Amino acid sequence: MSYDPENVFAKILRGEIPCDKVYENEHVLAFRDIAPQAPIHVLVVPKGPYVSTDDFSAKANDAEQAALSRAIGEVARITGAAEDGYRVIANTGTNGRQEVPHLHFHILGGKLLGRMLPKD
Ligand code: AMP
Repeated sequence: MSYDPENVFAKILRGEIPCDKVYENEHVLAFRDIAPQAPIHVLVVPKGPYVSTDDFSAKANDAEQAALSRAIGEVARITGAAEDGYRVIANTGTNGRQEVPHLHFHILGGKLLGRMLPKD
């Protein structure tokens, strides 16, 4: 799948759409999900044009990969999610039900979360 520069997170990264920013570094932006599914729900996205974890893991350079990993931990601490634990999710592709085709990690916390997957 080729990268679509008109996806909503690309527009946020270009400043064309506002976001509730919680963290930024050279390679990463993190902002609150517009439809939170937990008291803490933040999306961590690379600034580079990567569709998914599949794309990113294959193509991103070491600095981008390290920055994203560090950012996930930073965001969890900044938001307070790290205090009692949290979940990191990267929905990928059709089976993963990824809706926005720009890689993003969901950080969910602030309450005891439900099962990782429904039983269906
Ligand atoms: P996914 O199904 O993993 O692709 O999740 C996409 C997420 O992006 C959903 O949780 C949406 O609520 C969130 N989202 C969509 N548009 C925006 C936006 N403009 N600002 C913040 N979050 C958004």
